[in-house]
Amino acid sequence: MIVLNLCCGNRHQFEGWFASTEEFSRQAETLLVACPHCSDVRITRLPSGPHIKRTGISEPADINAALSALAALVKDSENVGAKFPEEARKIHYEEIPPRSIRGIASITEVKALIEEGIAVLPLPTPSKDEMH
Ligand SMILES: [Zn+2]
Repeated sequence: MIVLNLCCGNRHQFEGWFASTEEFSRQAETLLVACPHCSDVRITRLPSGPHIKRTGISEPADINAALSALAALVKDSENVGAKFPEEARKIHYEEIPPRSIRGIASITEVKALIEEGIAVLPLPTPSKDEMH
């Protein structure tokens, strides 16, 4: 069961209990939901406080977590440089043992790899100390 904050056409606000939001939509469409104050059936849903996503608070932490996961992934992978598309193909077709690799590939090469069903993760251009 969920509690929805509802409002009638005469701006009375009340709470309604429903099995789901879909169930509310179905009942509201068939005019089964009526205002307890004036029996109006023009019911609209109000955003309910506790269910509003507070993305502004959780996002920075999520981004940091994603970045450190990415950094770990890059650190554990072998830099094969411009040989990346070639090495990725060899791994995909099991010509060499699987390992994590990173390197440089053009957009055309990345597209070709993806079309061949090879999982590649396009990353921003490596920073200067990665290039040596
Ligand atoms: Zn009402």
